[in-house]
Amino acid sequence: MNKTLTFTKAQQHFMVIGNPIAHSKSPEIHQVFAKQSGLDISYQRQYCPDNAESFYAVITAFFNGGGVGANVTVPFKQLAYDYCQTQGSLSEHAKVAGAVNTLLLKDEALYGDNTDGQGLVNHIESLGWPLNGARVAIIGAGGAARGVVLPLIQAGISTLTIANRTVSKAQVLVTELSAANSTINSHKLKSCATEELTGAFDLIINATSIGLSGNTLPLADDLSSHYVYDLMYGRALPFLQHFAQRGAQTSDGYGMLIAQAALSFERWTGQAVDVKSATVSLKAGAT
Ligand code: NDP
Repeated sequence: MNKTLTFTKAQQHFMVIGNPIAHSKSPEIHQVFAKQSGLDISYQRQYCPDNAESFYAVITAFFNGGGVGANVTVPFKQLAYDYCQTQGSLSEHAKVAGAVNTLLLKDEALYGDNTDGQGLVNHIESLGWPLNGARVAIIGAGGAARGVVLPLIQAGISTLTIANRTVSKAQVLVTELSAANSTINSHKLKSCATEELTGAFDLIINATSIGLSGNTLPLADDLSSHYVYDLMYGRALPFLQHFAQRGAQTSDGYGMLIAQAALSFERWTGQAVDVKSATVSLKAGAT
């Protein structure tokens, strides 16, 4: 008998878990990657009540049900980190960030990674902005700031100052990061209050959540930079407008969002993502 048998690959399941979650762009982004790779995937937004028991119950059900990979967003990144630290394992970037945005199973236990910081670095490099030898300032001392420091240092920046509204949080962050990683420790990070950040930098990154709120950061008159990045994205950001008027090249964080997602997709599927072409598709879809 010469009957031809047809085999199709099973659909792979993914999710992003958060609260709130309805705004997440991750499902659209990952479907573009899947199309590029010829994979059949489902990628769901998963709402979860804001408590540890619910988070653990959802994660357990997802992976026991055959889920391949999960993204974790606000407010669960630290919980995911805590779980992997005690019951699973962590990448070096997740260890230093103290937060997990990417989960997968490894040796039948949860493995947590953090692709946010490397996503930022990959996007900045794709813009052609030089990081090697760069004098960098980060404004903000929350979870996002913590996550981008090690990848920036690994990309070869020369100096790093962390400025924050609450200066004590910037000081604690510098102390904790230096203790967590010898590469960071050898860089002797500085910290200061936002209004005390003065002089010329090559790159300034806004890692605060001030974004589109009516508030503005108290920036010194002589603060300048060739390149200025805001982790937030959406409409015109006052922080970027401030520096664009002074001649800086600027970017919002949409490219970082795509780049960190691409790294998660690559960890899960082993398939390389063409981020440039995915970005073109996503921007075309958005119009
Ligand atoms: P956190 O809540 O952990 O930290 C918030 C930071 O913003 C703190 O440093 C806080 O200062 C500062 N801040 C908040 N409001 C003000 C204000 N009115 N004036 C001055 N400073 C202020 O947030 P995250 O670190 O998790 O996130 C920061 C931003 O990064 C968010 O907007 C998030 O959306 C974005 N992000 C983007 C990603 C991307 O892929 N593009 C990935 C991850 C994050 P203080 O300590 O004084 O309170």
